[in-house]
Amino acid sequence: MHKISSKFNQCWRIEFLGNWRELNAGLCALFFIRMDLTKLTLTEARDALRGGAVSSVALTQISLDRIVAVDNSLKSYLTLSDELALEQAAEADKRLAEGGQAPLLGIPVAVKDIISTKGIPTTAGSKILQGFVPPYNAYVVDRLRESGAVLLGKTNTDEFAMGSSTENSAYVTTRNPWNLDRVPGGSSGGSAAAVAARLAFGALGTDTGGSVRQPASFCGLVGLRPTYGRVSRWGVIAFASSLDQVGTFGRTVVDCTAMFQAVAGYDRRDSTSLDDPLPDYDGALNGDVQGLRVGVPKEYFIEGIEPAVEAAVRTAIAKLEQLGAEIVEISLPHTRYALPVYYLIAPAEASANLARYDGIRYGPRLDGQDMIDSVKQTRSLFGPEVKRRIMLGTYALSAGYYDEYYGRALKVRSLIKQDFQLAFEEVDVIACPTSPTTAFKVGERSDDPLSMYLADIFTLSVNLSACCALSVPCGFDELGLPIGLQLIGNTLQEATLLNAAYAYEQATEWHKESPDL
Ligand code: GLN
Repeated sequence: MHKISSKFNQCWRIEFLGNWRELNAGLCALFFIRMDLTKLTLTEARDALRGGAVSSVALTQISLDRIVAVDNSLKSYLTLSDELALEQAAEADKRLAEGGQAPLLGIPVAVKDIISTKGIPTTAGSKILQGFVPPYNAYVVDRLRESGAVLLGKTNTDEFAMGSSTENSAYVTTRNPWNLDRVPGGSSGGSAAAVAARLAFGALGTDTGGSVRQPASFCGLVGLRPTYGRVSRWGVIAFASSLDQVGTFGRTVVDCTAMFQAVAGYDRRDSTSLDDPLPDYDGALNGDVQGLRVGVPKEYFIEGIEPAVEAAVRTAIAKLEQLGAEIVEISLPHTRYALPVYYLIAPAEASANLARYDGIRYGPRLDGQDMIDSVKQTRSLFGPEVKRRIMLGTYALSAGYYDEYYGRALKVRSLIKQDFQLAFEEVDVIACPTSPTTAFKVGERSDDPLSMYLADIFTLSVNLSACCALSVPCGFDELGLPIGLQLIGNTLQEATLLNAAYAYEQATEWHKESPDL
């Protein structure tokens, strides 16, 4: 705090010499002194930084202070890189003083702990990577730094991103800032909780089957899962390589877009990276949805969906229509196979990806009687959900079962993809719920893997078909828990998708609500 007031004093002294820009900044600073700076959106914080009304060091210190004050009960961060963050903030302030315009210059953000950060521990929420310090940054972390962002720390995740509640983390259980008895969703629950609780202005997560959209929905945020290949996976610890994608969280559509714009783009080190021109996503947000064709899939309003969720989503769709969109009922007939297909393909890929954790190359090693025994002991560090997936995946890939399980799952995956391709001949975006329920209670589903898997019933198909999708707040249930509207777009149609969400957001008030913590 004292940084802001000293800047303010300094401003007055300069103003005395007749500097009007500084006078303006001084008056703004007076305004900002009176408010809690963590309440600014990322975009407001960027304007305040550029106008000289606040410093990045002040924003960073205030964020760190708030983390110390509330994260004991929330547990959204696994590692705080506070010293480094303050150094990065000081450097950002220097660049700002020189007129620096990098898009996230001076903005404090958080990164899911499955994304490698040079010199900062990266565990993937697993004991098998306890103490692992990557010697390099993931591509997305380098991009965030080039954009001027300040990295506050690493957020909690289900172990290797396998889960929907963040309860599968080997370290801590993150709580939902709207109600501490509830889960924040998962697997990027730490990032979602941190942004919702104002412990970061934006964050990165990963979405293999719904892990950005579902926690965004549970925490009342905007969460984007980009098209497969739009964001580089280089340096992101692999779960299921044909489904994994880095996604972004923001408290508003504009904030989520700013984070996405910063990390999207071609990277030659990821062989699946798309070498397509990068649109100006920020510039595409004009809020005009006149004539936009919005498909409503009948398979997404099924038994088991909470009445409050269905009502809020239907009202949101009606709002889009009021704004000029054309609503079309569509069918995605293979939707019901998405869950079994995903739970064959994702574990199969995971079983191969996780074979590398043998205690020789990364993380801790538990010594046994001989080499095989040492590897066995070390791999016993995996938690129960990860072991379950490795067993499922190994089985599905084993000789004699490969064609029957994995091979067939691939064929049905093509049918699911085809459903979307046909739908996108008729409509521009698809609207449906992000999750059938609002945030469930901590512990409620942790002993029942199937009910946990069902939390992603509406998000998995997107990953199987390489489309893009987001979740945007569209209401609250009777307990005051947030509800998310999912919008799905065709491959590389993020601009259309984000603009539709922006139009809806600007016509509603949901994003102005914030949890009391
Ligand atoms: N909940 C899903 C799973 O456990 C999706 C996870 C994710 O998107 N990382 O596999």
